[in-house]
Amino acid sequence: MRALAAEGDHRDIDDAGHVHGALSERYQQALARVDRLVSRNQDAVQRRADAGGERWILVVVADHGHVDTGGHGGDSAAERTSFISRWTTTGRLREWLAVVAPHELMDLILAERAPQS
Ligand SMILES: [Zn+2]
Repeated sequence: MRALAAEGDHRDIDDAGHVHGALSERYQQALARVDRLVSRNQDAVQRRADAGGERWILVVVADHGHVDTGGHGGDSAAERTSFISRWTTTGRLREWLAVVAPHELMDLILAERAPQS
């Protein structure tokens, strides 16, 4: 299983969240742009997997959420909670708990590399 650690700073999402709020059209548009980028990355690694038998996992996570009206930095659940999106070229992922602490994330990703029965 290949894993490429790449950090992207998609500031336009954060900016849209600050200025317009997490429920705004601008926020949704910024998310859609990153979604298209992730989709292109999925296509690229799937081509590598199809051509060379490589196994890949893509994990997308944000470092915080936003309140509906805009902004973050407080201790509300909306601000302190994010998502984890996982995808693999094999279509097989281990089951993860619904709630993952930040310090647990890398171990979970690395565990995906082990062969599954
Ligand atoms: Zn911010």
